[in-house]
Amino acid sequence: MQKLIKRRGLKFNWHEPYLSYLEAVFARGDRRLGKVLIKAWELGCKFDSWEQHFKANLWSEAFKQCDINPDFYTARKRSIGEKFPWDHIDIGVTKEYLKKEYEKAFKEETTEDCRSNCINCGINVFEKGVKCN
Ligand code: SF4
Repeated sequence: MQKLIKRRGLKFNWHEPYLSYLEAVFARGDRRLGKVLIKAWELGCKFDSWEQHFKANLWSEAFKQCDINPDFYTARKRSIGEKFPWDHIDIGVTKEYLKKEYEKAFKEETTEDCRSNCINCGINVFEKGVKCN
C-alpha cells in the first residue's frame, strides 16, 4: 500500500470493509433494523464513522441478539418482482421504468437521451410523454 500512496496523481482512499458492509445492510434494510440500531447503541456503538470508535464486534453482537442475519440484506439474489421496503416512497421515476432499465443493463442496451425524446420515466411533472426539462 505504501507504494500506492506515493504514486503521483493517485489518491487511495481506505474504507473499513465491515463499515461498508453495514452501509449496504442499512441501505437495503427494512424496519426490522431499528431494533439492531438501538441494540448496537446500548452495547456501546457510537461515532462509528470515526475509525477509532468503530467496533465491528459490537455490531455483530447486536445483529445476533436481535436474531437478524445481515446477509439477508446483502448476500442474496433478489427477484425483479420483489417488494422493497422503500417502495411506498414516491421518487418520481416509476418502478416499471427502473425494472426496464435494469433489464436493459444486462443486455448492454443504452437509453436514449430523454432531452430529445421523452420515454416516460414517470418523473414528469406535466403530462405523460411531455418532456420535463
Ligand atoms: S423528459 Fe422527463 S419525463 Fe421524460 S424521460 Fe426524461 S426525465 Fe423522464
